[in-house]
Amino acid sequence: MTKVASNLQIDSARLWDTIHETAKFGATPKGGVRRACEAAGLEVHVDALGSMFGLRKGRDMSKPPVGLGSHLDTQPTGGKFDGVLGTLAALEVVRTLNDAGVETETPICIVNWTNEEGSRFAPATMASAAYAGDYTTENILARRDAAGVTVGEALDSIGYRGSEAVGVRKLGAFVELHIEQGPLLEAENKTIGVVDRGQGIVWYDGKITGFESHAGTTPMPLRRDALATLSEFVLAVERIAKAHGPNAVGTVGEAVIAAPSRNVIPGEIAFTVDIRSPASETLDAIDKDLRGAAAEIAGKRKAEIVLDAIWRKEPTVFNPKLVDAVESATKALGYSHRRITSGAGHDACNLANVVPSAMIFVPCKDGVSHNELEDATQADCAAGANALMHTVLALAGVAS
Ligand SMILES: [Zn+2]
Repeated sequence: MTKVASNLQIDSARLWDTIHETAKFGATPKGGVRRACEAAGLEVHVDALGSMFGLRKGRDMSKPPVGLGSHLDTQPTGGKFDGVLGTLAALEVVRTLNDAGVETETPICIVNWTNEEGSRFAPATMASAAYAGDYTTENILARRDAAGVTVGEALDSIGYRGSEAVGVRKLGAFVELHIEQGPLLEAENKTIGVVDRGQGIVWYDGKITGFESHAGTTPMPLRRDALATLSEFVLAVERIAKAHGPNAVGTVGEAVIAAPSRNVIPGEIAFTVDIRSPASETLDAIDKDLRGAAAEIAGKRKAEIVLDAIWRKEPTVFNPKLVDAVESATKALGYSHRRITSGAGHDACNLANVVPSAMIFVPCKDGVSHNELEDATQADCAAGANALMHTVLALAGVAS
């Protein structure tokens, strides 16, 4: 790295202002970001799922670009940092390199992935998953929102169904800066999380069948109460996840009684289970324990418990060389840091299957995200952006 590049710092106030301006754009900030990319001299390409790529030329254009970015969509009541920080920090990196006249050896490419949150269209992280080959473009374009509008129609209505085929813009690496969305960095007073793993996830659809009967006339020993059965199972999920801790979590997030009534013993309940761990073996062990607990509770209560694993995402292992590059950049900048596992899914977790990838976390206040209270400090956002820039410079090389 040249001397100029090693001293380079992003403009903290400009990044902060851009984050707050973008928060005012509302739900469709793509137009504003496209203009900002073009103003920064980037060549903007949009793929068939609306993901945006802003290419900054390098000295050697035969090499695939180093990608950096995140997403601009937010949860309906989300904050202004989730996704926004990583995307606008990527823009700030380009602006800083432009101002300092730094040319990189390989090109760099800032990316804004469509629909990371999945709050209007399922699944979450759909565009990066399609880029990684997990879904076909047609499959995603046909997904519908609650009003019946397809992804394709929604992209057409904002002019963002691009001409570039999904996945053809090859990247040599991908680095995503994101708020932690958890409490660890803040609790340990660390500025940067060097993310080395992402949680694996298993989703279950469950159903309990007991027997509906009269709340007044059915004696307690004769009941086959689906809700009481579920209650025992929920506590089993909690106990099992704790037993496989500290890096395992388990949640029953939905439970619906088929025909709820205050004077009827519940006969049927549908529910969901969400299990996460950064280790594949732990997911398997939890699965075994859950099924054991379900069989035991069902037998004891003479009810039926069906547990259907409908989706499994293996844990993400980020590229060790890139993780080291993030750590080296962080150390050189003098920021306190720790290795960390991502508890949430991210676009970089999908990318990691097809492109060497890494993530950088910065603390968020009280670990709160997907909430209007989501907050991060200007200093931490700037530190994350500097770590991002120096990681990208190390990967792309500075042309001398
Ligand atoms: Zn996000």
